[in-house]
Amino acid sequence: MSWNVWGHEWAEALLKKHIAGGLTRHAYLFTGAPGIGRRTLALAFVKALYCQNPPEPGEFCGSCRNCKQLEKLQHTDLFIGQAAAPGETLKIDTVREIQHNLNMQPYAAPWRTALFLRFEEANLNAQNALLKTLEEPTPLSKLLLTASNENALLPTISSRCEVIRLRPMALPELAKKLEAARMMLPDDALRLAHLSAGRAGYALSLADNPDEVDRIVSIASDGIEMLNADTLQRFAYAAAFKDVKKRPVLRETLRIWQSLFRDLLLLSASGDEVELPISFTDLRDSLTQLAGKGSPEIFRKSLSEINRMIMYLNANANLQLLAENLLLNFPNL
Ligand SMILES: [Zn+2]
Repeated sequence: MSWNVWGHEWAEALLKKHIAGGLTRHAYLFTGAPGIGRRTLALAFVKALYCQNPPEPGEFCGSCRNCKQLEKLQHTDLFIGQAAAPGETLKIDTVREIQHNLNMQPYAAPWRTALFLRFEEANLNAQNALLKTLEEPTPLSKLLLTASNENALLPTISSRCEVIRLRPMALPELAKKLEAARMMLPDDALRLAHLSAGRAGYALSLADNPDEVDRIVSIASDGIEMLNADTLQRFAYAAAFKDVKKRPVLRETLRIWQSLFRDLLLLSASGDEVELPISFTDLRDSLTQLAGKGSPEIFRKSLSEINRMIMYLNANANLQLLAENLLLNFPNL
């Protein structure tokens, strides 16, 4: 029996061992890129903890009341806390409310569990508030956190958690799984494995939303177009971000361009090899051509520029100025 989490078999084995041996820790931190399966793994762990009829210690049945309610995220002993949307701030009120709930006796399970998602979005006050729960754990409670990276949290938080570091899957392995699970053709599955950079959860959501794939590739193509564009065209593209409501769109564009420049960096450093784990296989020809005109140094510089812009974006900078700044600093290839 398996929890059916893709690519993290070692983590599953470790957590099962904790449950079977009665050695579960009070707090776990699941780290890795968004879409890699942090939340899925954490929820499978809660199922294994709460299952009323486990086939074996550390397993879950999937059909008892606790398993079914957890599947729907509607269990009286599970509390999920997160920022209103990705990229926003998780505030102290959310932490306090969940702490209050954790202090009560479990109702239908052996423990009450708090699951805080994307905890790097918690501001300093919220992180400090949670520290209290970590320092003086409530009996019969479990604390699960997900984050992109343990270094994005206060060291006093990550050091009190068992850190489960999740890595992307090897692309051919993910492609094989997608083929089987979604009845995909090998080439289509491999394309999504590349586009998701080995993140299983993200790849599955793309498999279910073909329009989304087209949209992402089209934003990546905009990046290529901007590299070939003149100043006026770059200003015109930036002007589309005049409206403050476009913040999530710009954030997404920057994330996609991060992957695009990573591809360019990879191609310029290694030459065009079929095995290279580039994200945008659809755009391979244009990318290879552009990569040949630049150098790893140039693309590395652009990449760090994009990373810096994402930070500014999170700090509420003016969107249009930010986009102009980035585009005018794009290399002229
Ligand atoms: Zn069950």
